[in-house]
Amino acid sequence: MLNAGQAGRNGTSTRVLLVEDDSRIAGPLTEGLSRYGFAVERVGTGADALAAAPADLVLLDLGLPDMDGIDVCRELRAAGPVPVIMLTARAGESDRVVGLELGADDYLAKPFSLRELVARIRAVLRRAHAQPVPAAAAPAPAGAAVQELGSLTVDRRTRQVQVHGRQVALAPKEFDLLALLAEDPGAVYSRQQILDQVWDPHYFGPTKTLDVHVAAVRRKLGDPGVIETIRRVGFRLVCG
Ligand code: CA
Repeated sequence: MLNAGQAGRNGTSTRVLLVEDDSRIAGPLTEGLSRYGFAVERVGTGADALAAAPADLVLLDLGLPDMDGIDVCRELRAAGPVPVIMLTARAGESDRVVGLELGADDYLAKPFSLRELVARIRAVLRRAHAQPVPAAAAPAPAGAAVQELGSLTVDRRTRQVQVHGRQVALAPKEFDLLALLAEDPGAVYSRQQILDQVWDPHYFGPTKTLDVHVAAVRRKLGDPGVIETIRRVGFRLVCG
């Protein structure tokens, strides 16, 4: 599993400056990114962002209380070559163009999943520095795209699942859920971990959604025992 706070190959964690005034987003995001091994400093205003210690990457909310995120981006850019990923509730194409023209390296419209954000961070850091991102930021399944787990076959490349060679049609979230549990068969994944990675780091809806999806996967795989419920904790994949 992920080793929170794990040092990168150069001995230090990648430092991420999160500029976000909304604590309901910043809290879970900080926690989630920490689990991927990033050292996150969070500030809530543009002024604090410009005064913060240099970071390896900036996650910049466009709608800040004191300044427009676009101005913050411009000033950060003037100060140095730090990669910037803009986060915004405005999903319009013009915002995207403006953001990128001002030197943002990428742009993510809310809501986004933690997994998607981490993928973007890794891509931006690769492009910016052409150097490896901490190993802790790579939760990829070991080895091949096709994973054999007893009678169960999970193919991440084609997003297909088979049981005893029979194709099983899973909905996208059902596949993501199964693929996540299959990353470390037998390991317990907490409800929050699953919600963060399959749904969204600031998912505040009913967690019943998770149970509904677990039930659907069990039913479609034809074996209720394949996903074990660990009471008050989470779930794990059981492969016989
Ligand atoms: Ca905001």
